[in-house]
Amino acid sequence: MADLKVSEMKDLTRIERIGAHSHIRGLGLDDTLEARNVSQGMVGQKAARRAAGVILQMIKDGKIAGRAVLLAGQPGTGKTAIAMGMAKALGQETPFAMMAGSEIFSLEMSKTEALTQAFRKAIGVRIKEESEIIEGEVVEIQIDRPAATGAASKTGKVTLKTTEMETVYDLGTKMIEALSKEKVQSGDVIAIDKASGKVSKLGRSFARSREYDAMGPQTRFVQCPDGELQKRKEVVHVVTLHEIDVINSRTQGFLALFAGDTGEIRQEVREQINTKVAEWREEGKAEIIPGVLFIDEVHMLDIECFSFLNRALENEMAPILVVATNRGITRIRGTNYRAPHGIPIDLLDRLLIISTQPYTEEEIRLILDIRCEEEDVEMSEDAKELLTKIGHETSLRYAIHLITAAALACQKRKGKEVEIEDISRVYSLFIDVKRSTQFLMEYQEQFMFNEVPDQLDDEK
Ligand code: ATP
Repeated sequence: MADLKVSEMKDLTRIERIGAHSHIRGLGLDDTLEARNVSQGMVGQKAARRAAGVILQMIKDGKIAGRAVLLAGQPGTGKTAIAMGMAKALGQETPFAMMAGSEIFSLEMSKTEALTQAFRKAIGVRIKEESEIIEGEVVEIQIDRPAATGAASKTGKVTLKTTEMETVYDLGTKMIEALSKEKVQSGDVIAIDKASGKVSKLGRSFARSREYDAMGPQTRFVQCPDGELQKRKEVVHVVTLHEIDVINSRTQGFLALFAGDTGEIRQEVREQINTKVAEWREEGKAEIIPGVLFIDEVHMLDIECFSFLNRALENEMAPILVVATNRGITRIRGTNYRAPHGIPIDLLDRLLIISTQPYTEEEIRLILDIRCEEEDVEMSEDAKELLTKIGHETSLRYAIHLITAAALACQKRKGKEVEIEDISRVYSLFIDVKRSTQFLMEYQEQFMFNEVPDQLDDEK
């Protein structure tokens, strides 16, 4: 724990695929934060997008922390889409974490642990590190390669001769790999960036050239007290508190982040990390970047979670909390009380509420156009018109799903573009909620457990 490990983290890649919201590239606002009718994959819902934009601006200006926003509206009115738009507009440096309310009921960790992890995923730490660059002539290079695996082992050594002295460096696996990749041999003049492990071959003549001397202040070599020749530059990483927690709490380190199997993290580890980060902040080595935590289906949380949220929002490092729900007045989980959106009044009172409205036919049409483009589906005007009508009468989601299915039907009949017949075909193959309900009403006696005469109760 003495040395917090952070540099290992910086290359974590985040995987994206074509999904329900992959067409959303931002909130589609202009410079004055007014919503454009169709922009960055977003259509309509202007008031809500503008409100989200104002919150975003406040986050970017660093003016607010620990605030919470509720996106409330009927199913399929773009609440998740707006949250995704916010995430895209935030930029890479600001962390955005997302979870569904129901995820806290995982068996692997307690509810408060799951929420704590989610909060810490939404708090970024910008760390400034000085990177050391070792430079010199390679006198001896010895890289052990166990025959069985062919991979370079950790015991590789490289002896660099500098003007003053000879130094033997024990290098990490990353650098050893880089040395073998660059085919470094004895006699080469090289520079190794210790933080990134990047190896550059300078060549003997280059090392004595004017170009080398004129490399500028950040890359100039400095004479260190021990005579070692080094050059220093500043490297900035942004990692989340959760990432720091994970790599410091497990022997397998950051690999646990890829597996997602992080388990519970001990409170002492978190306290030590908080203290360390506070020290870095005082020394000017780190800054906190409060990000956004989005909790979809927030009505799935229970009273313990709501009280946790109330308290967590008071922490000075708290991120912006964005929650969404499509529920009206319903029971607060874990109690017998009913409340608007299933959220206790004291928490509700802290939330800025943004409401979303159902779409007009015109807007549905525009969203379907965007989705066809996103999924690379050619569709005739008539077919689009029919699909829009279906979307208006059933739901936007159902119509979006039909795009992919209709494209497959079209492909099967070797057609060039999706026609009315393809839409009709899939419309009869896959039924929407209304028709499914109708069917149940007619045939419910033939289904199982029909002996309970009560009406459906979603709160059970
Ligand atoms: P639920 O309450 O059921 O969770 P929701 O309000 O979160 O619904 P979304 O999932 O955001 O609804 O919307 C359904 C689909 O429509 C998604 O694929 C979403 O990307 C798309 N969509 C919704 N609103 C817009 C919009 N204004 N512009 C573009 N696409 C949208």
